[in-house]
Amino acid sequence: MKNKKSRRGFLLDSIKGLGAAALGSQLFKTEARAENKESRSLASVVIAQPKIRFVIHGGAGTINRKDMSAEREKEYHAALTEALMTGYGVLKKGGPSLDAVEAAIRFMEDSPLFNAGKGAVFTSAGTNELDSSIMEGKMLKAGAVASLKHIKNPISLARMVMERSKHVMMVGEGAEAFAKEQGVELVPQSYFYVESRWKALQREKAEEEKNKTPQDKKQEKDHGDPIDHKYGTVGAVALDQDGNLAAGTSTGGISNKKWGRVGDSPIIGAGTYANNRTCGISATGDGEYFIRSVVAHDLSALMEYKGLSVKAAADAVIEKVVKLGGNGGLIALDKDGNIAQSFSTSGMYRARVGSDGQPVIEIYKD
Ligand code: ASP
Repeated sequence: MKNKKSRRGFLLDSIKGLGAAALGSQLFKTEARAENKESRSLASVVIAQPKIRFVIHGGAGTINRKDMSAEREKEYHAALTEALMTGYGVLKKGGPSLDAVEAAIRFMEDSPLFNAGKGAVFTSAGTNELDSSIMEGKMLKAGAVASLKHIKNPISLARMVMERSKHVMMVGEGAEAFAKEQGVELVPQSYFYVESRWKALQREKAEEEKNKTPQDKKQEKDHGDPIDHKYGTVGAVALDQDGNLAAGTSTGGISNKKWGRVGDSPIIGAGTYANNRTCGISATGDGEYFIRSVVAHDLSALMEYKGLSVKAAADAVIEKVVKLGGNGGLIALDKDGNIAQSFSTSGMYRARVGSDGQPVIEIYKD
């Protein structure tokens, strides 16, 4: 009997493993028949195939084909692919959604292409101040950090706040003191220097001097270098083989931001949210509008209380942002593995692995 049990356990494990690693897509029922007589007596085993899904974004904004060089497009494509496969690889090995989200975001934080970590935009004072948050959908645990000046990978510090402190959000010097205590490596501000970001700040300041209205500024950006647009925040949402959702977001905020300004990215319920009853979300765009619209939680609530699909809910919340006067986008992934990528801008750097297990990388709206 003991022998039979272990054989059955092994069989179940192998099927589960196979499903997660190789098939990793649709929920299906399969009959597993063992080969020898002894095991056959266990009859058929019905297994619910776990779904794994992964979706990331690298910011929404004015991203026009005509302004993008072939070389630059290739760089984004490669970086998005690598970030996507880094996170998806974690899920494929059976790892938790939180690990997948953190791994992909760390990769993008280390790239100068995105407005997060290394590539963070400059504040009006010429500093870099980083925000990030992470949340898991099972216990609704969350961690967030804001106004960091010396943390290479804010997403990992957000996760530490969630897992190693009794708090949800820490900011500025306090957050960095916590980081030191946790043995996190601090970097000098010079680490975040990226020439194109610096030049973008100088241009914004010159425009400001000329006393232009925000609307004029927006129109001018339509013709700028795509890397200099004011967005570029990164985010990820994962569904793991145990059915747990996690979401995370990381950003340098908005170029030329002032006086300790903090956007939606580290605000749970605005820029990031995850709930196993509904979905995981990471947003990007005009943070002030995303905070006022409580975008991420609103999307989840539309699903939970009104029964909307993830796509319908995603479109609805972006529409609300636009009505208020803001712009941006989001990625959302529901508990059943459906993915939504909704945005009001001309582009959003985005990538996903859906039900067919294939990576899809996209930049422009059409
Ligand atoms: N939402 C971010 C912020 O307002 C910026 C972005 O997504 O690009 O800080």
